[in-house]
Amino acid sequence: MKPNRYKDRFFDLEVLQWSVPIFLATTAFIFELVEHSLEDGLRFDLAFTGETIIFGLMGPIIIGFIIAWMRKLFKAEKQAIAEIHILNLDLEAKVTERTAALEQRNTELDKANHELQKLDEMKSEFVSLVSHELRAPLTAINGGLEVALQSADSLSPASRHTLEAMMDESARLTQFVQTILDISRLDAGRLTLNLGPVAVAPILYRSVEVVLGSHREIKWNLPSEIPPIWADEIYYEQIIRNLLRNADKYSPPEAPIEINVHVNASDISVEVADHGEGIAPEMQKKIFEQFQRGHKGESAPPGWGLGLYFAKKLTEAQGGALILHSPHWLESNASGSSFSIAMPVTSDEPNEGDDA
Ligand code: ADP
Repeated sequence: MKPNRYKDRFFDLEVLQWSVPIFLATTAFIFELVEHSLEDGLRFDLAFTGETIIFGLMGPIIIGFIIAWMRKLFKAEKQAIAEIHILNLDLEAKVTERTAALEQRNTELDKANHELQKLDEMKSEFVSLVSHELRAPLTAINGGLEVALQSADSLSPASRHTLEAMMDESARLTQFVQTILDISRLDAGRLTLNLGPVAVAPILYRSVEVVLGSHREIKWNLPSEIPPIWADEIYYEQIIRNLLRNADKYSPPEAPIEINVHVNASDISVEVADHGEGIAPEMQKKIFEQFQRGHKGESAPPGWGLGLYFAKKLTEAQGGALILHSPHWLESNASGSSFSIAMPVTSDEPNEGDDA
C-alpha cells in the first residue's frame, strides 16, 4: 500500500473526529428542543437537560473518542509502513551492492579459472613434450645396452654387473616416461582405448609370469568358466601387472599372493590379495591420488606414487571400478590388502589369438 493513501485516510479521520460529534450534538440538541417544545412547551427542566446531556453531549464525546482511537491506530500503522518502506529501500540497496560484489568475484574467479586451465594445458604440453623427447634417447640407450649385454661373456663380472644395473634403471626410466605420457594423454582425454572382448585368465597367467616369474607363491582361485570382459586388453593387462607388482613390493617375499576371480551378473572382478602390513585408513583416503606414497625413504621399494592413480583412472575410463580393501585378513600383524578390479562382462567372443 502506498503511504499517500494512508495520509488521506488519516486526514479524513481528523475531519471526522470533530465534524461527527459536532453534527451529532447539534442534531440531538435540536431534536430534544423540538420534542420537548411539542410535548409541554419549551422548559429547561431536568428531563430536557438530562436528555440533552446524554444524547447531545455524552454520545458525541464517546464517538469522538472512538474516532480519535482509530486515528491513533492508523497513525501507528502509517508509521510502521513508513519504517518497512525505509527498510525495504535499505535492503534493496544492500542486495544491489552484494550482487555487484558477487558479480565482480565471479568475474575474478572466471579469470583465475581460465588462467589455471591455461597453466594446466601448458603443464600437460610440457610433460608430454619432455616425455616425447626422452623416449627417443632412452630407446637408443636401451638398444645399446642390450647389444653390449649380448657380448657380456667377454666382460669382467664388475662391468657386466654395471651394465645389468644400467639396463634395469634404464628400463625403469622408460616405464616412468611411458606412464607419464599415458597419464598426460588420459588427463587430456587423448588416450585412445581399443575396447573389445577380452579373455581374463590368459592375461592373469601372463602377467604373473612377467611380473613375478616363479619367485613367489601364487594361490589361484579361478572359476572353471570366466566369461570375457569388455576392456582394452593392453591397458587392462597393465593394471593387473601394476596390482601384482605392488602386492610383490609391499608384502614379505615368502608370503603368497592370492588371485581370486568372481563372476558376477554384470561384471568380472579380479582380486589381488597380499599378506603385507596393510594400508592405514588415512592413507586409503588418498592412495588413488597422484604422487601419494605410503612407503617413503631410502629403504622404501622403488616407485613414484603414480601406479594406482593411473590404474584407477584407466579402469574407470574403460567403464570398470577399482576398489581397495584393507585389512583383508584377520591376522593383526599381516592384515594385508586386496585390490579388486571389476570390468563389465560381455557376451562377445574374444578374437582368436587374443589368448596367446
Ligand atoms: P608406488 O608403488 O609407485 O609408490 P602406487 O600408486 O602404485 O605407487 O601406490 C601408492 C602407494 O600405495 C605406495 O607407495 C604404497 O605405500 C601403497 N600401496 C600400494 N599397493 C600396496 C599394497 N599392496 N600393500 C601396501 N601398500 C600398498
